[in-house]
Parts: sequence; structure tokens; C-alpha cells
Amino acid sequence: MKNDDKASISLKKIICITVVLIFLLGIGVMAGNVKVNSVKIVLASGYEMNVLTTKTNIKEILDENHIILLENEKVTPNEDEELSDNKTIIISKDTEEVVISSEVETSENVSVEEVLEENYSKIVEKIVKEKVKIPYETITKDVSTGSGTTQNSVVQDGVDGEKEVTYKVKYQNDKEIEKVEISSKVIKEPIDKIIEVRTRQVTSRSSRTATSNPALTASTTLAKKVADITPEVVTFNTSAYCPCVSCCGKSNGITASGAPACAWYTVAAGSAYPMGTVIYIPYFKDEPNGGWFVVQDRGGAISSSKLDIFMNTHGEALQFGRRDLECYVYVF
Ligand SMILES: [Zn+2]
Repeated sequence: MKNDDKASISLKKIICITVVLIFLLGIGVMAGNVKVNSVKIVLASGYEMNVLTTKTNIKEILDENHIILLENEKVTPNEDEELSDNKTIIISKDTEEVVISSEVETSENVSVEEVLEENYSKIVEKIVKEKVKIPYETITKDVSTGSGTTQNSVVQDGVDGEKEVTYKVKYQNDKEIEKVEISSKVIKEPIDKIIEVRTRQVTSRSSRTATSNPALTASTTLAKKVADITPEVVTFNTSAYCPCVSCCGKSNGITASGAPACAWYTVAAGSAYPMGTVIYIPYFKDEPNGGWFVVQDRGGAISSSKLDIFMNTHGEALQFGRRDLECYVYVF
């Protein structure tokens, strides 16, 4: 044999082997591709059909099954796409939204709370205790006697109480978004403020200018003497005395002014009222003097809030006792 022939045979062998290998490879590739799929096709009418196909291109599968899309129809996946993993082809009207159930991995069980936390940021719930003031109440008691001016006096100061309130508070991003009272406990009861409305007490110093002058209508000599003086109205704590030793410490009947004491005329007053001051006491308006007296005496127990009326007998003085009387004072 010639060397050329030998070489030619070798070459043929190589070509043959190569061809065989390519052929086998081709078969292998073919075998790999030749895979029969069961595909579900959903038509626009809603009709579902299952077809077996070796094809994966959507258009090819449709062609194979003689399905032609109308103008207003679309297919999912698109015609030029490959069959998706769920092996479903859906033909629908162009306007419809197609949702192919995709196989979402739901291996993790996500709780609602976790989703909420994720979506609305952290919501933290805390139990909070707070001390809250209980404001005191103000109670007004009217104890006035119905006449005269009144004044308010505080007989008990109000003190706030305190309670401990338990709240359930929700925070979002550290900001309070909800606060619900769960319970409360009184730690300290409040003390009411008590105000009494009282009739104003008239003291010796409180006097008012009379709105009318009794001297103008009186007929006694004393009244006529003071008719042009505007009197002050004063309430005196009034008592009576007589010329006895018990009442005066002496029994000569001579007053501090030097004049002899005279019943239904002489009164003893405090030093705020000069000797000769005329005093009209309406309480005695029916007495012989018509209620008109003159300050002629002083006394150890006579302060400016007191008035002592001279009477003839100790019995009369005792019977009169002691009483608050409104008087008209005419100071010269
Ligand atoms: Zn007496």
C-alpha cells in the first residue's frame, strides 16, 4: 500500500468518527429537548383545555392547536415568549387584567403583627402609671341671716388630691398614638374648699352715714338742736346702769361730765364720742325722751363699741340686760 492511501484511510476514519460523534451529540441534544409538556390553555371564553406538546414557544403551541388570536385578544405569556413554569397559557380580552397565579414561596409563616410592624413601622405598647391631680371642689354655704350686707369667708382651704392612673399607651416611632385608661387608684382624697357667706358683722368702728335724719321729724329739744347735723349710724353693744355702788363704784349720781345723771337722758360712751354727743336710739323711741340721749358719762368698761344707758333703778338696768342696738350719733 502507498503511504497516501494509508493517510487517506486514516482521514476517512477520523471523518467517520467525527460524524458519528456529531450525530450522537445531536441525538443527545434532541433527546434533551424532546420533552412532552402538559399545557393548560385557557380561552377568552373561560374554556380550559389541556394539550400535550413538545413545543415551548407560545405561538408555536397555539399554532399547533389551531388557536388564532382575535384582534381584541391577547395571550399571556406573550406569543414570542417561552412557556412559563406553571405551563399555563391564558387568552383574554385585551382589557382584562390577567393574573397568573405565580408560585410564591410561602415557606415562612409571617404573622399579621410582623406584617403590620413591617408596613407601619414599630408600634410599641407599654403600661404606664402616672400621678394625676384631683382638683378640690369649692362649696359655698350660705349662713347669712338675710339682712344686711354679706361677706364671703373661707372656713376651710381646698387641697388638691392625687390619684395614680394606669394607662395602656401605644407608641409609634416613639410618638404616643393611643392612650387608654385601664385603672385608677386614689392616693390622696382632695379636701373641699368651704366658703361661708355670712352677714357682715357690724363693729364699733363700722359706721355709715345715715340716709335719713330722724332729728328732722323728732319734736324733742335735743333733736331740734342737732337737726342740721348728718348723723352716723352705729350699732352699739348696749347695756344699762344705775347710780348704785354696784354699777358705779359710787352712789352720788354725778357723771364724769360733772352733771348729775338723769334717766332717759344720760348715756355713757367710749372716749371716741365727746361729752355732749347726741345719740338717738330708735329702740327707745316710745320712751319719755323719744329715744334721744346725750353722752355725759364714761366708765371703766366702756369702749367705743359699747354704750351704757343710765336708768333709775338697778332692777330696770338688769331687766334691760345687754343688746346690740342701732344708734344715730350726732357729733358736734
Ligand atoms: Zn345699779
